[in-house]
Amino acid sequence: MSGTDEIKVSPALKEKLRKLGLMSSDDFVLHLPIRYEDETALTPIAAAPSGVPVQLEVKVLDVSAQFKPRRQLVVRVSDASGELALRFLNFYGSQTKQLELARDEGKTLRLYGEIRHGFLGAEMIHPRCRVVAENALLPQSLTPIYPTTAGVSQNVLRKLIPFALADADLSELLDLHWCQQHQLCTFSDAVQLLHAPPPEASEVELQERTHPAWQRIKFDEVLAQQLSLRHAYMARRQKGAQQMNAPAQLAEQLLAALPFTLTKAQQRVFSELKYDLAQPYPMQRLLQGDVGSGKTIVAALAACQAIESGYQAAFMAPTEILAEQHYFKLRGWLEPLGIEVAWLSGSLKKATKQAMTLQAASTAQLIVGTHALIQNSVDFARLGLVIIDEQHRFGVAQRLDLRKKGERNAIPPHQLMMSATPIPRTLAMSYYADLDVSVLDELPPGRTPIKTKLISDQRRDEVIARVRATITGGRQVYWVCPLIEESEKLQLQTAIDTHAALSEELDGLRIGIVHGRLKGEEKASTMMAFATGQIDVLVATTVIEVGVDVPNASLMVIEHAERFGLSQLHQLRGRVGRGAHDSVCVLLYQRPLSESARARLKIIFENTDGFEIARQDLHLRGPGEFVGSRQSGVPLLRYADLELDTDLIELARERADYLLREAPEQAWRHLKRWLGRREDLLKA
Ligand code: ADP
Ligand code: MG
Repeated sequence: MSGTDEIKVSPALKEKLRKLGLMSSDDFVLHLPIRYEDETALTPIAAAPSGVPVQLEVKVLDVSAQFKPRRQLVVRVSDASGELALRFLNFYGSQTKQLELARDEGKTLRLYGEIRHGFLGAEMIHPRCRVVAENALLPQSLTPIYPTTAGVSQNVLRKLIPFALADADLSELLDLHWCQQHQLCTFSDAVQLLHAPPPEASEVELQERTHPAWQRIKFDEVLAQQLSLRHAYMARRQKGAQQMNAPAQLAEQLLAALPFTLTKAQQRVFSELKYDLAQPYPMQRLLQGDVGSGKTIVAALAACQAIESGYQAAFMAPTEILAEQHYFKLRGWLEPLGIEVAWLSGSLKKATKQAMTLQAASTAQLIVGTHALIQNSVDFARLGLVIIDEQHRFGVAQRLDLRKKGERNAIPPHQLMMSATPIPRTLAMSYYADLDVSVLDELPPGRTPIKTKLISDQRRDEVIARVRATITGGRQVYWVCPLIEESEKLQLQTAIDTHAALSEELDGLRIGIVHGRLKGEEKASTMMAFATGQIDVLVATTVIEVGVDVPNASLMVIEHAERFGLSQLHQLRGRVGRGAHDSVCVLLYQRPLSESARARLKIIFENTDGFEIARQDLHLRGPGEFVGSRQSGVPLLRYADLELDTDLIELARERADYLLREAPEQAWRHLKRWLGRREDLLKA
């Protein structure tokens, strides 16, 4: 039931609106309907199809609050064609009174909802329902339904938005001629139409967001994103950077000492990095390469360039296990060349940490660590290059921190970000538009492809036998515990239980365990024992997901594989197949499988190319996961769809560069309209 009193925005409502991101008039104008309802026609009860939203006009016959089988309000209504029961499971006394009054006074009620044919005949659960005057006119056009939260009703939004439309500056910020050329209507026409569609507007085009008005809005949204990112990109190019012109003698020495030669792709990327590092503006490059493509050595070569040019390099990894592994590997490569490598992580004892911090601030040439590296206490003496491994695993806030840290220096360091979660092209073009991208599109030679097997957990015995056989053959095994996302405590318990069970089932073998709760040293010594072959089977949680590199491990078993995400499975599988041995990844699953679990397992079973998996993942889940923004609250694209609107993204990219060059004032006004105060976050 709804009244039509004038809306006053109380402080409480204001706060709720703020949570919806609605503060300025621009915000309300850009708060567009998620869908529309058709209230332009009435359907007789007898003619209403089930399961399709319809509007009815009825009189109330009977109102009764019931308490069995559960508390509910049942209202019988009728029109000339038949009768219907309405059912409200949550209801207030005031609602009952209003309905009783409508019954007593014979008032007309308009209902909107779906009819179901239940056990007791036709019924509607929780219809929208309001009293109207006799012969009240029907709306001429579709009713917008807005995204909202508890405490902010559709009516509130429907009343506030027209005020905003009248108040906001809807003037056209794009060149009209250019808009016509690209079949884009004006901004003002677009928002007016979407908030209050005229009767003749196509319902399908509105609902499916293919209407020209939607096209314009989507274009504007993507343009704002591109402007923000391209602006950041260009602004960085205005900044000075250390030019690292060293003749690459250290890199030569490192290459000469390696037991392998670089792939063509690695050589190409290293020259790109060398070129970037020699420029007078800071590098901002994303290195993408599938799991196992050999990113670490390329990063080490870049570090050599920085060091030979007289600067420090920092190498940051998202987990302690990975950071430590990098530390050992990089030390093995670089110390023989006379380079001082230091280690810094959050779990170091206080005194050691202080000593290391001091070292970072003074003599160390390469500093490896976790995000402890970006904590305020660390001040680098001459930081010239920052390398971030598995960058998608860092939160946006951490990335911003690091960038700010760099910017505090008069001269910001070069940045190399690495990611093994391949980013589909449209995503790279949108969310990463402020980065240059290099791709390692070739795996080192001699890798045998990993075989993937899907096995029901009822056949666990066979898998245990395979584990034994693998170890008898001289190889090692990872066993990944079931994922329990909801509870860290349960996750830990599961790991311990799995370890106990396997120790029994695999009697006589050496079984180790790593999980997130182990102390830094325990983790490190277990990983070391596994890397040096003193452990046969490593039971692990997803702490081993990223980066871990033990070439002798050739079998990976993932329990309850149906619980993992696609990129997680791909990353985990990438822990094997790193040596010359035939490798197998066994995905143990438990029935029944949900639709989406089945889809994921099918994709991972059929594909080994990380880019293809990522593309399908984007299709399944949308872009949120890729940009790591779920936790950060960065606004994703609300209207444009990265899969469907590729053309618009390309057009916006082009136009953004043009506007920033030729009409910066216009660009700035567009940004302000769309991003308000959120712009900062997008740059992370
Ligand atoms: P990722 O790209 O997943 O980080 P790594 O850098 O860990 O991959 O490399 C995977 C493995 O391949 C490592 O053991 C590394 O030493 C080895 N490797 C890297 N480049 C080559 C190459 N060109 N030839 C042979 N092995 C290589
Ligand atoms: Mg790696």
